[in-house]
Amino acid sequence: MRTQIGIVGAGPAGLMLSHLLHLAGIHSIVIENRSRAYCEARVRAGLMEHWVSELLVETGVGDRMKRESMVHDGTYLAFNGTAHHIDFSKLVGKHVVIYDQKEVVTDLIARRLADGGEIHFEVEDTSIHDFNSDRPRIRFRSNGQQQEIACDFIAGCDGFHGIARPSVPATAISGFDRVYPFGWLGILAQSPPPEKELIYAYHPRGFALYSMRGPTLPRLYIQCAPDEDIENWPDSRIWEELHTRLAAVGAQELTEGPVLQKGITGMRSFMIEPMQYKRLFLAGDAAHIVPPTGAKGLNLAAVDVRVLARALGEFYGRGSRDLLDRYSAICLRHAWKVQRFSWWMTSMLHLFPGDSAFDRRRQLAELDYLTGSRAAQQSLAENYVGLDVSLNM
Ligand SMILES: Cc1cc2nc3c(=O)[nH]c(=O)nc-3n(C[C@H](O)[C@H](O)[C@H](O)COP(=O)(O)OP(=O)(O)OC[C@H]3O[C@@H](n4cnc5c(N)ncnc54)[C@H](O)[C@@H]3O)c2cc1C
Repeated sequence: MRTQIGIVGAGPAGLMLSHLLHLAGIHSIVIENRSRAYCEARVRAGLMEHWVSELLVETGVGDRMKRESMVHDGTYLAFNGTAHHIDFSKLVGKHVVIYDQKEVVTDLIARRLADGGEIHFEVEDTSIHDFNSDRPRIRFRSNGQQQEIACDFIAGCDGFHGIARPSVPATAISGFDRVYPFGWLGILAQSPPPEKELIYAYHPRGFALYSMRGPTLPRLYIQCAPDEDIENWPDSRIWEELHTRLAAVGAQELTEGPVLQKGITGMRSFMIEPMQYKRLFLAGDAAHIVPPTGAKGLNLAAVDVRVLARALGEFYGRGSRDLLDRYSAICLRHAWKVQRFSWWMTSMLHLFPGDSAFDRRRQLAELDYLTGSRAAQQSLAENYVGLDVSLNM
């Protein structure tokens, strides 16, 4: 097999990259180790920055999203028993869009296949080779047969646990890591929402988040110990904790419903520098992880592939390597700002083991300042709906 861009991973990053490249007249092949059904059912992110939803519409994959998504003009911050509304539309004239990541993936797969795109699902033993030469290759097994893709460039879009990042020589890459001393116990339930927008709650028993994947599909989280055993959390105990932590004046009471899914997610911040090595480019979770408090993972993946697609467009269209050579610097500049925002939201809203009464009062003072200051709210809103990406370095 031969292509211009070999893409490892059919998550949002790999699929969106393949779609954008196709629109720019550049051929790509995507390989994915899971089945199509698995990729289309994987419950993960649900919140898109304003510009990401516009990108989906502008590039012809936003029709179903326009019909089925929910537009959120703001969010709630709850503490000391009161919910405060932060109005993004009034503060910065933008909104965010609630549309399940699995639906984005479903729409992108359908569009790629309709456009004649090549996606190989359920591949095994993926490995990447010779990306320090001008003839990179991807090897894998498919239906028991050994296969090889010869390409001009490789895009490692295979997530945090993929093979692309570990294939870069250790001396050529630096990692920056922060593991938080707590996790999120999350449930997907079927019940009517108490509010039409998200509620972030700071509570003496720990953080809680009310979010949703659809009008009657709340996704609810409570802060828990990182090594918490889910077996200790029957549904009744989870609901009780959610009622306690999310109870706030100014927000409707939570209605319980059947729990469709539950699990515990660890919280970490992770970055690598640089995000490119010779003819290998890393994008999305393969290059960075943010704690989910800022709802940024999917959005960061979209930034990376938009920059990469444009850089490859300039390479093939005008023969210019300029943007391609600056890919890592451009993405990292943006990703570090997003990393800062996600860390800040996480630090402000969670209880840290060992924190003193001083720390708790400081957190409350920060929330009080934030909800009382238009300038502070504007800063939150600007980051939450998505910062502009500068291509100038
Ligand atoms: C519980 C949870 C909630 C989240 N909530 C939000 C949110 O609200 N907003 C937000 O923006 N982000 C959120 N995120 C983060 C977001 O889901 C990720 O950042 C996003 O999936 C990154 O996309 P990606 O394509 O880079 O990686 P992935 O989605 O991980 O895709 C990588 C793909 O590569 C495949 N792969 C891996 N190894 C190989 C291999 N060796 N060969 C072939 N294929 C391989 C994987 O199967 C996968 O399909 C959340 C994440 C979690 C876990």
